Amino acid sequence: MNLEEARRRLVESLVAEGIIRSERVKNAALKVKREDFVPESERRYAYEDMPLSIGYGQTISAPHMVFLMDELLDLKEGMLVYEIGTGSGYHAATIAEIMGEGRVITTEIVKELAIFAWRNLSRAGYSDRVAVIACDGVKLRLREKPDRILVTAAAPDVPYPLLDLLKDGGKMVIPVGVFPQKLLVVEKRGGEIARRYVTDVAFVPLRGEWGFDKKRR
Ligand code: SAH
Repeated sequence: MNLEEARRRLVESLVAEGIIRSERVKNAALKVKREDFVPESERRYAYEDMPLSIGYGQTISAPHMVFLMDELLDLKEGMLVYEIGTGSGYHAATIAEIMGEGRVITTEIVKELAIFAWRNLSRAGYSDRVAVIACDGVKLRLREKPDRILVTAAAPDVPYPLLDLLKDGGKMVIPVGVFPQKLLVVEKRGGEIARRYVTDVAFVPLRGEWGFDKKRR
């Protein structure tokens, strides 16, 4: 089975499982080539529904997790989306594809991965819509408030700077806690914060000042 065929089959099964619910997410899943975002040795596994190694102890999330989060983000054309944890750049590419018009700013704490992701995104044709910044994404000061925030590493709890950064009326999708981590949708409305638990998940831990590898304040 070639990769095109494998991609089509995986998308069909994710639709059947109820993970992919919208046409927009389905079309993006069919369009973005996951094999172009993994190391050469992992290409043939690109359409197995599991996380794959991208080096530096990090992984590209399983496709069902990427598209579950994309559906929860409720993306609309023209939005500004902020991602913490670029990894391979695949998730950011799917978001850009779903929005069509719109911008993604994605941050990666491992410099080598930021470069890897930037190469992948450029080759795949997303360099005009996705910006990659090598930094601790929780600490970055953005001038513009994002409509959506996606965190792809598990934080001890929802980091305060991200709640502050999120636009009013905006949504954040984030895994929190220790294994099994809880996937949450956090909404900000009129200054009020609502948290909704979705499901148990397994992500690599968030690093940096608001992560697990450093004591906070
Ligand atoms: N979304 C990615 C998967 C990311 S795995 C993809 O589509 O491939 C989580 C990533 O978060 C790892 O690459 C890790 O290095 C990064 N990360 C962890 N803590 C971070 C932080 N504080 N700021 C930015 N990136 C972080």
